[in-house]
Amino acid sequence: MRKNPRKIKRIILYRRENPTLTLAQIGKRFKCSREYIYHVLKSNNEPTLRAIPKKVTPCINCNTLIEKGIRFCSNKCRFNYYNIKVTCTLCRVPFYRKRYQIIQRYYDRRGYKHIYCSRQCFYRGQRAGISSKKNLI
Ligand SMILES: [Zn+2]
Ligand SMILES: [Zn+2]
Repeated sequence: MRKNPRKIKRIILYRRENPTLTLAQIGKRFKCSREYIYHVLKSNNEPTLRAIPKKVTPCINCNTLIEKGIRFCSNKCRFNYYNIKVTCTLCRVPFYRKRYQIIQRYYDRRGYKHIYCSRQCFYRGQRAGISSKKNLI
């Protein structure tokens, strides 16, 4: 086997940067056989077995990469995803509303402009002329 120190160095570097590639894939990159790659890595104490890539998926709420099979990175994200903070149109008190309720209403009625923390606020809003009946919470 011809020795080519620069090539060997590049192969080792490439392996370190791409731990999940197979020997054949590395060989293809350097136009040589997987046996050659194996030999180069083995004689330089580099791993010949590829690292198994961990399957990851983004958190639905914040896009942090997490292990596949889990939907949220934290309980906080779960809460924030399912509960949306909204502000009462009338009394300006912030409160949480279930996401599906908001989405449902958003699609049910056009113009989901006003949201009320309570029926009381809604009726007061209606009386004040802010909302018509269709904006009922
Ligand atoms: Zn998250
Ligand atoms: Zn209110």
